[in-house]
Amino acid sequence: MAQNQNFDTVAIHAGQEFDPTTGAVIPPVYMTSTYVQDGIGGLRSGYEYSRGGNPTRTSLETLLAALEGGKHGLSFASGLAAEDTLLRAILKPGDHIVLGNDVYGGTHRLIEKVHGAWGVRNTTVEMSDLSAVEQAIIPGETKILWIETPSNPLMKISDIAALARLGHGAGAVVVVDNTFASPALQHPLALGADVVVHSTTKYLGGHSDVIGGALVINDDELFESVKFLQFAAGPVSAPLDAWLTVRGIKTLSVRMERHCTNAQAIAEFLQGHPAVDTVYYPGLPSHPGHELAKAQMSGFGGMISLSFRGGAQAARTFCESMHLFQLAESLGGVESLVNYPAEMTHASVRGTDLEVADNVVRLSVGIEDVADLIADLTGALPNS
Ligand SMILES: *Cc1c(COP(=O)(O)O)cnc(C)c1O
Repeated sequence: MAQNQNFDTVAIHAGQEFDPTTGAVIPPVYMTSTYVQDGIGGLRSGYEYSRGGNPTRTSLETLLAALEGGKHGLSFASGLAAEDTLLRAILKPGDHIVLGNDVYGGTHRLIEKVHGAWGVRNTTVEMSDLSAVEQAIIPGETKILWIETPSNPLMKISDIAALARLGHGAGAVVVVDNTFASPALQHPLALGADVVVHSTTKYLGGHSDVIGGALVINDDELFESVKFLQFAAGPVSAPLDAWLTVRGIKTLSVRMERHCTNAQAIAEFLQGHPAVDTVYYPGLPSHPGHELAKAQMSGFGGMISLSFRGGAQAARTFCESMHLFQLAESLGGVESLVNYPAEMTHASVRGTDLEVADNVVRLSVGIEDVADLIADLTGALPNS
């Protein structure tokens, strides 16, 4: 692939050469678990068994690395499978990890409950406050600085470049969960991060039809140890899942453009409504991370949260009163979704630092006609 192609071209072509046997424009799905050997050890193109490698997975991994401007891509069965493999490749019992106090609830659960049981310690911190992060890092013991920006569900923006310098100064691996922005809007590796994590289930897949996860890593040694663990423990993506994710990624740029314009219009609409207390969207000048988001992202994304003056009851009624916005977990698909974090996505962090207020609602703004979306919201808001 040409080195100088721009993002929108890369998203369609990287790792997607036509099938040399038939000329099929779309590379086939290699639904195979194993590969014939031409004599013992004679592998035709390096493939031996699909836990170790599969051509459809390779085509996705090549694409993922190209999208993030990184050297190595790895595709996993889910976002959490990717995270778990990365954590186990880096951490040993006794090691310490610093993570944001509003990371994805499942990430916190994995680190606290699963890795905690093996002696991994963690500190949650306000990641948009650099001095708080500096204080939370224990030099020599903190092995990972885990950043999620924009964060979930309050869309806090953290300064990736400044945090990468902080983390590296203490000898930590700097990881960015880039799920909410997607590589169409933000490139953490270019800002100094070591590893990018994705739940490809969200914007990369983009159609709410496949679960998947990814890591993009520049360092050869770290890549080799993660790849070894992926092979040894087996949390790989299946061929059809990898193929669906590739198909989704081809339209990432045009989808993100629409997600951004729809979300901006909806955030502005909600901000003026008397029932709404705060609208959390980095595209609003009133958002505390607006200037930073403008500097480190090329768009503000499709995720919005809002809090209700009428408390939990108002939030719940709103969630259950919409038609186009379907009440469901997850995000990043072409269809709009509404989620009540306190009892849905963030139920697992109740009683922790990460607890989400019960008057907060999260919207995943889809790519439908924005007038229809606003009509749906209007119908679900009180006094209308
Ligand atoms: C969904 C999500 C994950 C977990 O990914 P799965 O594919 O559900 O395992 C991790 N991080 C963020 C920000 C997410 O939204």
